[in-house]
Amino acid sequence: MSSQMTGGLTGAAIVAGVCGAPIKHSMSPVIHNAWIQAAGLDAAYVPFAPAEDRFEAFIEGLRGGAIRGLNVTIPFKERALAVADTASDLARMAGAANLLIFEADGTIRADNTDGPGLLGAIAAQAPGFDVSAAPVIILGAGGAARGAVAALLLAGAPQVRIVNRTLARAGELATTFGAKVIAADEAALPGLLTDAGLVINATSLGLGGGDGPAASLELTPADAVIVDMVYKPLRTEFLQRAQALGRRTVDGLEMLLRQAVPSFEAFYGQTPPTTVDVRRLALHLLGEA
Ligand code: NAP
Repeated sequence: MSSQMTGGLTGAAIVAGVCGAPIKHSMSPVIHNAWIQAAGLDAAYVPFAPAEDRFEAFIEGLRGGAIRGLNVTIPFKERALAVADTASDLARMAGAANLLIFEADGTIRADNTDGPGLLGAIAAQAPGFDVSAAPVIILGAGGAARGAVAALLLAGAPQVRIVNRTLARAGELATTFGAKVIAADEAALPGLLTDAGLVINATSLGLGGGDGPAASLELTPADAVIVDMVYKPLRTEFLQRAQALGRRTVDGLEMLLRQAVPSFEAFYGQTPPTTVDVRRLALHLLGEA
């Protein structure tokens, strides 16, 4: 029976959610509940903000499937992987999980959809782009960079170059992934840009409207694609510079929306309906529309 038929949830409703700290500004409840409503599902998606030192206890209490699953966001992604019994290759390689599924037998399965979200956003906003054709540059070496490296390698990237303010952190990341991943400091960036197919800002630079990374994007090949994971504001300074040079760009909001798709499928057993424009909803929330 659909929730539209009952005017609300029934006792058979499928419940999932998102947990993080803080969680108040998460866009995930708006996105998933818009899809639930459009699909007429008997289902709900709710936010949780466990105390930081109680995350594991919170997750343990959900074993057995009282709720179907959870998205996990900052600062719990690494701990989410650790608490799970099984994990996908992507989650293991990323060293973090943003999706936990509570199986009926009491086990917890971890996955990471951030990387697929990145690839989905590139496919949507830079159609025809071939990840396997040229080296990729990732600016930043935090959690978001790690997830991106894993997905890009699985997608066939010939080389991933991690450039970070703190070289040691980039080096640690490169060592984890092996020969196809190299670390470099910011001084080496110009030389690395000249044959790059894809340049991704995975730092927090540009968040809230400041300047993005100081990469000389004019050195990239004319057909290079420039991605910014930052989505507040939508048109970051980094993306504006790329656009002014005529490069194709991919925004962080599309990545956010795309990572939600496999989560919705895992929770509710169907692809999200296309009848609701969640990008428009998200743009409205961001004050961009
Ligand atoms: P994180 O783990 O805290 O890493 C932050 C990175 O930014 C580090 O590499 C850090 O360099 C670098 N950085 C910070 N301030 C800098 C500065 N002033 N100059 C140079 N580098 C600086 O964060 P994260 O979780 O990886 O997230 C990174 C960004 O991606 C955030 O803006 C986040 O919102 C965004 N994100 C977006 C999505 C999406 O779906 N669109 C998903 C995940 C993340 P050091 O190592 O030198 O400190």
